[in-house]
Amino acid sequence: MGYGWDEMEKADETAKKFGGGGSWRPEFFMQPGDRKRLLFAQDDPYCLWVHGSYKIGGDTNPVCLIRNEDLGHDACPFCDVPNKVQSNKGIWPFFVGAFTIIDLGFAKYDGDGNLTLEPFVSSDGKEYQFQRRIYVARKGSDNKPGMLVKLRNKMAHRGGGMKGVVIEATRSGKQTESIGDDVEFVERVAEKDWPKYLKGAGMSDEALQGLELDPFDFSEIYQPLSPEAMEKMLRAGGVTPASASSGSGSASGVDGVPF
Ligand SMILES: [Zn+2]
Repeated sequence: MGYGWDEMEKADETAKKFGGGGSWRPEFFMQPGDRKRLLFAQDDPYCLWVHGSYKIGGDTNPVCLIRNEDLGHDACPFCDVPNKVQSNKGIWPFFVGAFTIIDLGFAKYDGDGNLTLEPFVSSDGKEYQFQRRIYVARKGSDNKPGMLVKLRNKMAHRGGGMKGVVIEATRSGKQTESIGDDVEFVERVAEKDWPKYLKGAGMSDEALQGLELDPFDFSEIYQPLSPEAMEKMLRAGGVTPASASSGSGSASGVDGVPF
């Protein structure tokens, strides 16, 4: 995001790289079995309700219009869909906390416990490491607490917020949160020491120059869609919006029927 025509080209590149349309968010994810090191660049989570959209082909999870009461809506097309359909289509609302992180890379250990941080290598041989990403942790339920609860219980009780905290994250299986399902506290690095720390972790001077270390502007990133856009998204995913079934009868029955 930013000003300038070249942002448009960047959007095309991003869409090509990640598949899908232009509303992509740079969200961090791991594959089952991955072990990663992450540096938190932000103290507190940006909290909100979103809806799942993966199963209906969505690129991004839309912001819930009624559970985020500050948005001032009195209905949400995704919430208006019957619970059973929400469940089948994976579009139920869930609470998340978003953090800005720097993905430090894969944590690999030799037999003596020495760590190296390694980049992600794409299929065309490009290396990706030390990128600013959004870490979206779920609150989960009382019975099945999510990573947001684990982070609070494991990290926040130490005080001082998450900024500068380095964690090692692991993802044990496919049926777990895409950010991983376990974290270990590694250390806390004061903000003034981040450049030195990142260089020590293998980042080049050139890459460091180009790295944005400021937190994301989440109020910008999590802009709600209009109810119409959300209904369009539902239809595209094969879900009939509640307003369509209740509204269509009267629309065709009252006016303008020529016989
Ligand atoms: Zn909703």
